[in-house]
Amino acid sequence: MDRFAAEIERLKATNSYRTLRPASGLDFTSNDYLGLAAHPALREAAKKALDEYGVVGVGGSRLLRGHHPLHEALETHAANFFACEKALYFGSGYLANLALFSTLCGRRDAVIFDETIHASMKEGIHASPAERYRAKHNSISSFEKNLKKAREADCQSVWIAVESLYSMDGDFAPLQELVALARTYDAELIIDEAHATGIFGKTGLGLSEELDLDLSGVNAIAVHTCGKALGVAGALVCGPASIIDFLVNKARPFIYSTAPPPMLAASLIRALDLIDEEPERRATLFARIAYANEKLKAVAGNALCSSGSHILPIILGEEEKALKIASELQGAGFDVRAIRPPTVPQGTSRLRISINAMHSENNIADLSIALGRSLEKFAR
Ligand code: PMP
Repeated sequence: MDRFAAEIERLKATNSYRTLRPASGLDFTSNDYLGLAAHPALREAAKKALDEYGVVGVGGSRLLRGHHPLHEALETHAANFFACEKALYFGSGYLANLALFSTLCGRRDAVIFDETIHASMKEGIHASPAERYRAKHNSISSFEKNLKKAREADCQSVWIAVESLYSMDGDFAPLQELVALARTYDAELIIDEAHATGIFGKTGLGLSEELDLDLSGVNAIAVHTCGKALGVAGALVCGPASIIDFLVNKARPFIYSTAPPPMLAASLIRALDLIDEEPERRATLFARIAYANEKLKAVAGNALCSSGSHILPIILGEEEKALKIASELQGAGFDVRAIRPPTVPQGTSRLRISINAMHSENNIADLSIALGRSLEKFAR
């Protein structure tokens, strides 16, 4: 046990120690970007499913007794909504990414991944026997260099792994250029739309829709996590029917895990409908993003690294500074968290401010005043 205690001491000494803290204060940190998590329609859908079927859990994995009509209804609904051949519901995005890469990327394959992709994608890639090639963040020339290497190494299938909107930087992947590369090098594309789902695109399908991506002739798989803008939990993997069938048959994280509660599937069906029914939530969100950019830029200057999304990182550098400023903001009633290594690279500890559709302009103005005060104090 000594080595665990020693490691905890090291974490504490380097401002890397983490503790669990319940939500309190005005939410500037969660991924509930549209405020759907507390939407009455989602609650009602869950209650109705509970009353109708009378079960919370399903007591087994999907391939055994755990498969429920609501899982099937969700997957059919999601395939329609996301305009893909088939969709598969996983209990979490982490599980979905672990399953995708560890199942699809084989021994003779290569995965070219953006260096800042989410831990769950990295975990999946590490669990696969494929060759790994790390590309510089959002650098098309780095992706191309690695694609060439993979093809020269005579890899069988070559996979490109990206997020559409990066969770800690709030910037967008150059999806059009990546699709062009996928075409040139005959690569398959896996796009984690986690932070764009429900928000970007004319009908909220994600960044691919926003950019009107032409995916003809390219095998593309999208991951839409359901615990963010959709306000529930889990993830929908959307892609060609053959891939989804393969996952059902081969993906160990899918096969050997208890199916998610059906009431969540019922809430998710409603959440997808709400994306269509209440577009004003997205309109409000975009108005607030513009306002937040203006207000936060005025106090944080170049520390604010905004790319126009609802994720606004304020880069502070060392862990201690990020922790202290976050703590001051929390004391002032704002739920803002410090993001530190290993989640982000060393020396780039930050506040990750997320804007949601429930914020008023006043909320944002108040936060920027408090942030301005803290930044000034720590600059002295
Ligand atoms: N992908 C990305 C880009 C994420 O940011 C996250 C979680 N924050 C996940 C996947 C994992 O999703 P989940 O929280 O549903 O496990």
